Amino acid sequence: LSVTYLLVLDNYIGGEFVPCAKHIDSYDPSTGEVYCKVPDSGPEEVAAAVNAAKEAFPGWAATSPAERAQVLNNLASLLEAHQEEFAQAESKDQGKTISFARNVDIPRAAYNFRFFASSVLHHTTECSQMDNLDCVNYTVRSPVGVAGLISPWNLPLYLLTWKIAPAVATGNTVVAKPSEMTSVTAWMMCQLLEKAGFPAGVVNVVFGTGPQAGDALVSHPDVPLISFTGSTATARAIMERSAPYCKKLSLELGGKNPAIVFADADLEQCISTTVRSSFSNQGEICLCTSRIFVERTIYPQFLTKFVEAARQWKTGVPSEAANNNGALVSIQHLEKVRSYVALARAEGAQVHCGEGVDKLTLPPQNVGGYYMLPTVISGITDSSPVMQEEIFGPVTCVTPFDLEEEVIGRSNGVRYGLAATVWSRDVGRVHRVARQLQAGLVWTNCWLVRDLNLPFGGMKCSGIGREGGRDSYHFFTEVKTITIKH
Ligand code: NAD
Repeated sequence: LSVTYLLVLDNYIGGEFVPCAKHIDSYDPSTGEVYCKVPDSGPEEVAAAVNAAKEAFPGWAATSPAERAQVLNNLASLLEAHQEEFAQAESKDQGKTISFARNVDIPRAAYNFRFFASSVLHHTTECSQMDNLDCVNYTVRSPVGVAGLISPWNLPLYLLTWKIAPAVATGNTVVAKPSEMTSVTAWMMCQLLEKAGFPAGVVNVVFGTGPQAGDALVSHPDVPLISFTGSTATARAIMERSAPYCKKLSLELGGKNPAIVFADADLEQCISTTVRSSFSNQGEICLCTSRIFVERTIYPQFLTKFVEAARQWKTGVPSEAANNNGALVSIQHLEKVRSYVALARAEGAQVHCGEGVDKLTLPPQNVGGYYMLPTVISGITDSSPVMQEEIFGPVTCVTPFDLEEEVIGRSNGVRYGLAATVWSRDVGRVHRVARQLQAGLVWTNCWLVRDLNLPFGGMKCSGIGREGGRDSYHFFTEVKTITIKH
C-alpha cells in the first residue's frame, strides 16, 4: 500500500482557520510533484474575510501606534524564532534555494514588521499658519479601513509582509491574498498571529486564484484600498475592476531593468554584482537586470568574463548549500522563459551559455523539476520581444553602446521603468545619467541596496505609487486638512 499525505491549507478568517470546500494543487518546483492543496476561495470566502476585517477595524484603529508596534515586534520575534521552518517551507513551495530563503526572504519578512513597528512611531503631520487671515491649518491622518493586499509568487512572505506590516501599523485591518502558487508561508504566519497579540479579524488571509479570490477582493465594495504587487497585465484588470468604486491603488509591477557599464567601471565588482543582479532567485525578482549595455571598448572583454562568471553560478537542488539557484516556480513559467531563448535563436542571436548550450545533471528524484541554467544572449536587436518584454527568469542580454546619450535613450526605450544600475567611477556622469533614466530606482556601482525609509516603486508600466516608510504611511492613511480661524 502506498499512501501520500498532502499538506492541506485553510483560510484564516476572524482569527480562525476555516476549511474551504474546493482546493487547487500546489507543486514542489524542485520535483514537479503536487505536495499541497490550497483553498480555491471565491466571493463567499472573501466576503466572510471582509466582514471579519470590518468588525475588527474600529477596535484596532483606536489602539495607539505604540500598542500596534508592540504586536508587530512580537510577530517579528516569532518569525525569527521559526526562521528555519519558514525558510524550508518557502524553498519547497517556490523552488528557490533554502539558503536564499534563509538569508533573504525570511529575515526580510521579520524585518518588515520591525521596520514599520518603528517607523509608525515617528511620523508627523503638517501645519501651516496664515497670520493675515488669522488662520492655522493642519493635517490629520487616519487609517483607511479594510485593506486588500495581493502579492506574487517570487518573494512570497517577503512581499506579503511588506504590505501587511504598514497596513496594520497604521491602524487598518487587512484581507490578504497570496499567490495561489506560493501560499504556505502565509498560512504558517497565520498560526503565529494570535500569539503575537493580533486581535481576531485584524489580519485575514484568503487563499485562491487571481480571477476568483483576487477579483472578489478587488471588486468588493467594502475594501477601499488595494495594494498589489504582480504583473502589469493583472494591474490593468485590477484598475478596471476597482474603477467603479474609486479605490485607492498602489501598483508594484514588472520591469525590464538595464545595467549600463561604462569603460571606467570596476569590472571585477561590476561582473560579480551583475551576475547576481541577473540571476539571483532564478532571475525571478522584479529588480533583476535583463539588458546589459556595455561601452564598446570593453565589450569583448566584458562578455567573455561575464559568460565565464554566469557559468559559475550553480543551479540545482534547492536544499544543497553549494547551489546559487534552485528551480523556477512552475512548468508553465519555465516554458515561457525557455520560449524567449528559442525566439532569440530564431532571430539569429547568440546564446553563450545555459539553455540549449550547457547540460544540467540532477539526482533522479529531481529530474521532473523546473530547472534552467543562467543564460546569456548577445547579438539581439533592441526591438526584439526578448529585449522589450519581461522574461522574469535566468536570462539576460548583453549589447554594446558607443555614446552616453545613446545608452540613456536605449535604456529608456521600453514600456517599463522600475530599476536601473549604472557602473562608472566618474561621479559627474553617474549623477547625470541617473537623473535621466526613467526608473523608480537607480543603483550606481551596486544593486538592491535598500533603505526601507525611501520610496520603492516604478514609473511607466512598472507601477503607480510608491511604498516604503513615509510613502506607505501616506498610502495606508487618509489625510484631512483642518483650518482653524482664531
Ligand atoms: P500575477 O500578476 O500573475 O499575480 C500576482 C497576484 O495577483 C497573485 O496573487 C494572483 O493570484 C493575483 N491575480 C491574478 N489575476 C488577478 C485578478 N484578475 N484580480 C486580482 N488578483 C489577481 O504576477 P505573478 O506572476 O504572481 O508575479 C510576477 C510579476 O510580479 C512580475 O511581473 C514581476 O515583475 C512582478 N513583481 C513586481 C514587484 C515590484 O515590487 N514591482 C515585485 C515582485 C514581482
